[in-house]
Amino acid sequence: MTDPSKSLRDLIRTIPDYPKPGIMFRDITTLLGDAGGFRRAVDELVHPYAGGRADKVAGIEARGFILGGAVAHQLSAGFVPIRKKGKLPHATVRVSYLLEYGEDEIEMHADALVRGERVVLVDDLIATGGTATAAVKLLRQIGAEIVAACFVIDLPELGGAEKLRADGVEVRSLISFEGH
Ligand code: AMP
Repeated sequence: MTDPSKSLRDLIRTIPDYPKPGIMFRDITTLLGDAGGFRRAVDELVHPYAGGRADKVAGIEARGFILGGAVAHQLSAGFVPIRKKGKLPHATVRVSYLLEYGEDEIEMHADALVRGERVVLVDDLIATGGTATAAVKLLRQIGAEIVAACFVIDLPELGGAEKLRADGVEVRSLISFEGH
């Protein structure tokens, strides 16, 4: 049941020490499960891009698929999944990026976009910005024009949004939380 007095912030559940000690995990499943909250979050993400400013929405696996799919639908834009390596069936382009321990790779289909298409990138949260920066690199590699990168949550102390802005990307987030 939707409680209209609850803000988006109230609808996000925080789980301390998950998946490891010291991390405050910002769980958006409680927001997604609330009909009014989910709609409000998507409406707020979509708002600046209504009226044909985007050709495609790219969502980052996995929570970026849920939000990005809804945003794409509302913008009447196509949706492009950006996935962890090895999950996409056709020819891909890929980028590797550094994690706290080690390295990871993300991929998208090489024919998911044509050069010059305008793309809004969507994920649930930006922390250090490693994932989103890699996604921007991937999209630019195949000639996409990044309209903006949008997140429900920013953790500004981790500097990810600043890093993306320094790369020339417009960054929007609906809520920010202190700390990690
Ligand atoms: P980063 O690459 O450091 O910006 O991390 C962003 C990705 O990791 C996003 O896909 C988030 O879903 C996930 N993530 C990082 N930190 C958190 C956190 N504190 N709570 C929930 N998800 C997180």
